Amino acid sequence: MEKRIIFATGNEGKMKEIRMILADLGVPVVSMKEAGVSADIVEDGKTFAENAAIKARAIMELTGEIVMADDSGLEIDYLDKAPGIYSARFMGEDTSYTIKNTALLEKLKGVPDEERTARFVCAIACVFPDGTLLESYGTMEGRIGYEIRGENGFGYDPIFYLPEYGCSSAEISPEKKNELSHRGKALRAMKERLGNMRD
Ligand code: IMP
Repeated sequence: MEKRIIFATGNEGKMKEIRMILADLGVPVVSMKEAGVSADIVEDGKTFAENAAIKARAIMELTGEIVMADDSGLEIDYLDKAPGIYSARFMGEDTSYTIKNTALLEKLKGVPDEERTARFVCAIACVFPDGTLLESYGTMEGRIGYEIRGENGFGYDPIFYLPEYGCSSAEISPEKKNELSHRGKALRAMKERLGNMRD
């Protein structure tokens, strides 16, 4: 079989970003859906890195192929870094982000600019069929805004304000987001470690 990497995510928003960044890796990167794999993995790690490794290892064991996985989320300093590793599960996996984002804005009501600091975090794990694990990490610093803004991106992007750009991460282009984002940084670091995989 042709060498390829399965990216262990069911999130289409993420998959779009991942495909753009890994386009020049030298081997195809396919989603779990494209690989015909489905699994309900219990993410019971205590850190982003542990959860990424749990996901990658579980799918590698199911498929016997090279598997990459990420675990990411939003840390809000004023809320002791919540929702953190529970970002997807915050208020329930099926609750809309309009509701989640509105609830977070409400929790930060009256909190001044300098205490609204936050960051997106992304840990990537790549597991090979022989069990080898490679890991990388990236962050994007910003602040929680005062309103929901922008149509690009996904998840918490509409409330994540980038002071240097004067807009939210849902208002920058997909290309710019990939350049700045936690996931972009972690994926490029991983890509560097993998080298050109065509050989
Ligand atoms: P997981 O990595 O699939 O466990 O979930 C991460 C969750 O964190 C996503 O469902 C989003 O809610 C949030 N998140 C991670 N990265 C981003 C991003 O780039 N923009 C907005 N929300 C994000």
